[in-house]
Amino acid sequence: MKFTHATVPTLKEKPAEAEVASHELLLRAGMMRPLAAGIYTLLPLGALALARIEDVVRDEMNAAGACELILPTLQPSDAWEESGRWSAYGPEMMRLADRQGRDFCLAPTAEEVITLTVARIAPSYRDLPLNLYQIQTKFRDETRPRFGLLRGREFRMKDAYSFHADAADLDETYARMYEAYSAMARRCSLEVKVVEAATGLIGGDISHEFMVVSGIGEDVLVFCDSCDYGANAELESHRPSRAIGSPGGAAPEEVHTPDMTTIQDVAAFIGVTPEAVIKCVMYVADGEAVAAFVPGYREVSEPKLAAALRTDDFHPLREDERELFGGLTPGFTGPVGLRGVRVLYDSELAGGQGMVCGANRLDYHLRGVDEGRDFAAEPLADIAAAVAGDLCPRCEGSLGMARGIEIGHIFKLGLKYSEPLKAHFTDADGVSRPMVMGTYGIGTSRILQTVVEQHRDEKGICWPTAVAPLPVELIVLDPGNGSQAEAAARITGGLAERSVQVLTDERSLSPGIKFNDADLVGLPVQVVLGKKLVDGMVDLKIRHTGERRDVAAGDAVGGVIRALEEAP
Ligand SMILES: [Zn+2]
Repeated sequence: MKFTHATVPTLKEKPAEAEVASHELLLRAGMMRPLAAGIYTLLPLGALALARIEDVVRDEMNAAGACELILPTLQPSDAWEESGRWSAYGPEMMRLADRQGRDFCLAPTAEEVITLTVARIAPSYRDLPLNLYQIQTKFRDETRPRFGLLRGREFRMKDAYSFHADAADLDETYARMYEAYSAMARRCSLEVKVVEAATGLIGGDISHEFMVVSGIGEDVLVFCDSCDYGANAELESHRPSRAIGSPGGAAPEEVHTPDMTTIQDVAAFIGVTPEAVIKCVMYVADGEAVAAFVPGYREVSEPKLAAALRTDDFHPLREDERELFGGLTPGFTGPVGLRGVRVLYDSELAGGQGMVCGANRLDYHLRGVDEGRDFAAEPLADIAAAVAGDLCPRCEGSLGMARGIEIGHIFKLGLKYSEPLKAHFTDADGVSRPMVMGTYGIGTSRILQTVVEQHRDEKGICWPTAVAPLPVELIVLDPGNGSQAEAAARITGGLAERSVQVLTDERSLSPGIKFNDADLVGLPVQVVLGKKLVDGMVDLKIRHTGERRDVAAGDAVGGVIRALEEAP
């Protein structure tokens, strides 16, 4: 493939829209171009890399016994009405109407359509289990598309759906998918942490996310340093390693704390640690005032708060909503004598002695407050976020935290779709029963960018061989030179016989530009045809390590094969 034919419009400068390194490199290396917010054209090299990744995914799915099909992307609303998700999905769903005014969506996922499809086939117990997958374009009307392919409005993913006679059978397929996903990540040279996650809009009982640890990740992961416990921060559980409270007193005592609204200021002024302060965070949930209390060294976990409040409709108190709290002042609100607002206490506050809290009076705090004597921490709920150093819920190890990019998510759905959509099978006794389901998604365009995020240096992309658009770039320094052109043709032909595809740069440009572009595009092995050819030598470079070696022109094909075996 010639560089010019492959349409590789490299850029010297960082494009203004690129917020993260991988986004910048995919644009600069001429692999993609934006069309609109969150919508991209993959140019030939980008499309080749995506195809390599999708080959890996397809290979592992087939090896795990799944079968590929193609589901419609344009889906009528009826199916979604039956599951209740036509309204539940909200504005993230791309909706449209046909000329008769019938409602459709551009699929964000396909649980409804696959469930209806299988329901109409009406399998018997002998046909089960089924595991069907597709690799398709999906749509999501993101409020804030960003980071290139990491959060787009149109993206590629592999989605699989399994159907079972009972939960035990689902467990087996689920375990096989877990293994397949781990293998896919490994083959794409991505190191993943698998964490327990919330099931969200997809629903079901249990789910696991496959996360690539990265500073630009949008999720926070909590994991144990000595066992395999890991969870998305939205549903982690932790045990505190610190004690709350301080030496108590006979009764609460008011302290004048003018303008001290932060936990640190109050703790330092009173002479206690933040562990002794009760933090109050004010929210408005379903139009009602809610005071959430957590230990002063922790933050409220909003996903956990949502679960405890049983609503997603809440936000931190705004200035214009202060009257909902009846004149209480943020920074000086505490549980003692608090009336007229809904309260929630983090479980860790139970039994706290010698605590400091807002006095429900401007510029005053209370010290020497005991839970049980001065207020009752009711209702208690797990609403605080973990902090580094908390103890693992399963062993005596310590919890750490990291940000992660979610590349895959698998779910045990149970009967969530098969019951409303009447996806039944006939069991061995001839009785019709709903099928137990699982669903398994992995984002292939997101993997594409994540691979670039994880494999790059200051010069450009360093593609792992397994998912590189092409394995080799051949740089012909003087395309007008007959012997260089002849050597290029011979090496390309020799590699083609070994099924190794080559990108050939024979542009009439300076060597510097061609070398820079080769490093930017980042194919695993570079072969340079230049002046050394007079002495029968070519220059070979391994992109990842930067290592160069001289190879006899006659052995260039063998040299490339050996270098590819060594490249990561
Ligand atoms: Zn542990």
